[in-house]
Amino acid sequence: MTNKKLIVIFTCVFFAFIILAIILSNIQPDERIAVVTVDGKVYKEVDLSVDDTFVVETSKGTNEVRIKDNAIYVEEASCPDKLCVRHGKLNNKYDSIVCLPNKVVIEYKTAPDIDAVVGR
Ligand SMILES: [Zn+2]
Repeated sequence: MTNKKLIVIFTCVFFAFIILAIILSNIQPDERIAVVTVDGKVYKEVDLSVDDTFVVETSKGTNEVRIKDNAIYVEEASCPDKLCVRHGKLNNKYDSIVCLPNKVVIEYKTAPDIDAVVGR
C-alpha cells in the first residue's frame, strides 16, 4: 500500500511539473523580436529590449507603435474602431495585435520551423 501511494504521489508531482512548465513556456515568449506586417508583408522587425516609438504608414492610415519595458503596443491609430489601441500590450507568443482597417498585424517572431510551415 505504501509503495502504491508513493507512486501515485510521484506521478501527480511529475504531471504537475510538466503542466507548470507548459504554462510558463506559454506565458514567457521565447523570442524578444516582434514582427510588424502590413497587408501580409513584413514591414519591420523590432527588438523589444530597446525602447522605441515608430509610425507604421500604410495606404489606409497610420499606427503609432511604442516599445517600452520589453512590451509592444499601439499607442495611436488613424483607424475608426481603435481595436488595435484598446488591445494593449502583446501578451504571449500566440497573441497578436491586429488593425483590420489598416491591415497591420503585430506579433512575436515565431520559431523558424513554425515559420516554414506557415509560409508554405
Ligand atoms: Zn486599428
